[in-house]
Amino acid sequence: MTTYILDQKDRPMRDLRISVIDRCNFRCSYCMPAEVFGDDYAFMPEDQLLSFDEIVRLVEIFARFGVEKIRLTGGEPLMRKNLHDLIARIKEVDGITDIALTTNAVFLVRQAANLKAAGLDRVNISLDAIEDEVFQQTNGRGIKTKPVLKGIEAARDAGLEIKVNMVVKRGMNESQIVPMARYFKETGDTLRFIEFMDVGNHNGWNMDEVVSKKEIIELIDAEMSLVPLAPNYFGEVADRFRYKDSNAEIGVISSVTEAFCSSCTRVRLSADGKLFTCLFATHGYDLKEMLSENQSDQDITAYLYEIWTGRKDQYSVDRAKYNKKRGDKIEMSYIGG
Ligand code: SAM
Repeated sequence: MTTYILDQKDRPMRDLRISVIDRCNFRCSYCMPAEVFGDDYAFMPEDQLLSFDEIVRLVEIFARFGVEKIRLTGGEPLMRKNLHDLIARIKEVDGITDIALTTNAVFLVRQAANLKAAGLDRVNISLDAIEDEVFQQTNGRGIKTKPVLKGIEAARDAGLEIKVNMVVKRGMNESQIVPMARYFKETGDTLRFIEFMDVGNHNGWNMDEVVSKKEIIELIDAEMSLVPLAPNYFGEVADRFRYKDSNAEIGVISSVTEAFCSSCTRVRLSADGKLFTCLFATHGYDLKEMLSENQSDQDITAYLYEIWTGRKDQYSVDRAKYNKKRGDKIEMSYIGG
């Protein structure tokens, strides 16, 4: 039986994002800068990661509170071995209607068909530039766009629904906004622009480096006329637009300049089983510990109820209050995007 619950701001719990690994093959400067995440960086040992059994058990409990959508993320989720097995098991959970994956797509060529067959519905593919020289800089590993574009092709061939996500940071890749729009208008894939956010503590975030939704839309509209579209559902994070002369869509995720905390229905699980009620949280609730202490589903359910019904987070609305820095936020690679 499903028990719908609301937090202190009347927001239901709908989407669970699960980080399945904290490692990544990229070193994007705004997320896992190479200077911080170097060769000697202490990533989680494998036995610290939630096992597939543990993840599935938690998904079953969350589903009883009305969670319908699962997003697997990381780190780079395709670096977790046998991810398709996890997807197949989540697919079987009562109440779960949608399974999505956020990935940089480099390993997708080999895995797309298996993932689709296991029950994956959608992929969000991160790509911050269409020109190699810019992309090689942004990913911090000198990787060209070709492996990502091949990954997108593989996802399309496998029948997965695709969205392409581009983080825009001034001084890094704003030159790519219009070229990316042109490219994906042609392929027909939905492209979404994400405002550079102050997640974690290591990306040196500065408001001056945020290219606003308004600026992004103006730049594209000057060359390819856009019309706004209504949201698809309550809590959709991207504001949607369609080109006047085609059915291709773009979206902008304006979490900095137009915060959308009031409709945030997302809850996040780190790869080592800590629960976070906000992307900008400083504190997580240890569910792995409860699992390893053999606590019952009832105990975990009661704990989740207490956490969600007490939730007040609205960091992006209150951003100015935090005076730019709160110093001890969870890293994006840990909590998952
Ligand atoms: N490795 C996968 C990928 O590249 O998609 C999944 C994890 S990544 C942390 C998830 C998403 O978060 C990516 O689209 C990434 O660009 C975005 N992201 C990371 N740091 C960000 C930041 N500071 N501001 C905005 N988006 C960010």
